[in-house]
Amino acid sequence: MSSLLVDDIAELVTNVAGAGGPLGIRRRAAVLVEDGEVAWVGPAADAPAADRRIDAAGAAVLPGFVDSHAHLVFAGDRAAEFAARMAGEPYTGGGIRTTVGATRAASDNELRATVRRLHAEALRQGTTTIEIKSGYGLTVADEARSLRIATEVSTETTFLGAHVVPAEYAARPDDYVSLVCGPMLAAAAPYARWIDVFCERGAFDADHARAILACGQAMGLGVRVHANQLGPGPGVRLGVELGAASVDHCTHLTDTDVDALASTTTDDGQSATVATLLPGAEFSTRSPYPDARRLLDAGVTVALATDCNPGSSYTSSMPFCIALAVREMGMTPAEAVWAATAGGARALRRDDIGVLRPGARADLIILDAPSHLHLAYRPGVPLVRQVLHNGVPR
Ligand SMILES: [Zn+2]
Repeated sequence: MSSLLVDDIAELVTNVAGAGGPLGIRRRAAVLVEDGEVAWVGPAADAPAADRRIDAAGAAVLPGFVDSHAHLVFAGDRAAEFAARMAGEPYTGGGIRTTVGATRAASDNELRATVRRLHAEALRQGTTTIEIKSGYGLTVADEARSLRIATEVSTETTFLGAHVVPAEYAARPDDYVSLVCGPMLAAAAPYARWIDVFCERGAFDADHARAILACGQAMGLGVRVHANQLGPGPGVRLGVELGAASVDHCTHLTDTDVDALASTTTDDGQSATVATLLPGAEFSTRSPYPDARRLLDAGVTVALATDCNPGSSYTSSMPFCIALAVREMGMTPAEAVWAATAGGARALRRDDIGVLRPGARADLIILDAPSHLHLAYRPGVPLVRQVLHNGVPR
């Protein structure tokens, strides 16, 4: 078993709460990696011997980012739609059907190439875990193959057959819900850990969303919900009702929604249902940002994710989302970094990632900066110098 020591770390973000604040910051630290896991964390002066050494040279080291919401399986791009929005056209979500057409027409290898390209792009920017949803196939075969391809790069895969009602079912949405709950779910479930529904006006109402999510739960899938993105609605409360790991977007919340999320708080002080905020979507649709401050002040656990997709948020950059969250959503840099690492892990109900402690996965990033503050302080700058994924330098 070979060991690797990451040494001379000026600031180590562990996310182990304690003396180092919520980020569990240690100064002048080192991390020993063995067999893909963190084996030891401590002062650089006490670092044990190792077979190999990486000199962080006074840089900051963080857990790899956990992007808990992304749509990487698709074909085509919608740059023209983006340009039209920036010229004043509103975003309605209707462009999803454009991507559905392109995705159905694509070969497996075309879809695979896009997934691998975006996965590699995210990894270069420090994302060591990425959740990947289906949702641009919307047939039994296309949803199943989307998830099968997603499992080639991630274990965090989500069946989103209920993204929109496809055009051929527009006049009979009940029939589409039956398809999703029946043959489509049966074909998708072997490749999925989660089920998700776009619960929004123009997509799926509360009754349809509840029926679909309950079918997924009965097949052993965990629940996530696209909720309250385009306007107020039932999605957040439905997610809480069903014990969702995360409700995502949360742009338009009532006090009742916030109270419902806060009511899921557990003994460790985190809410069982996480509010995952996706500021890339508001950026790319020129919409008002969600109010992270309000959620945090109510005691709700917040995660940040990219929502990477070709329509409403074509970014794979977690540092960009951190910068937006700090500048536009009332988060401190520490809160945003926590939300992009430990928060994402919580949204995926994982305790082996988003944290650097013995036994955790050795997913970590070395910045070209002395502090995590630089992720928001120096927006748009490629600050991730090196990534270790499962202990392997990339
Ligand atoms: Zn999404």
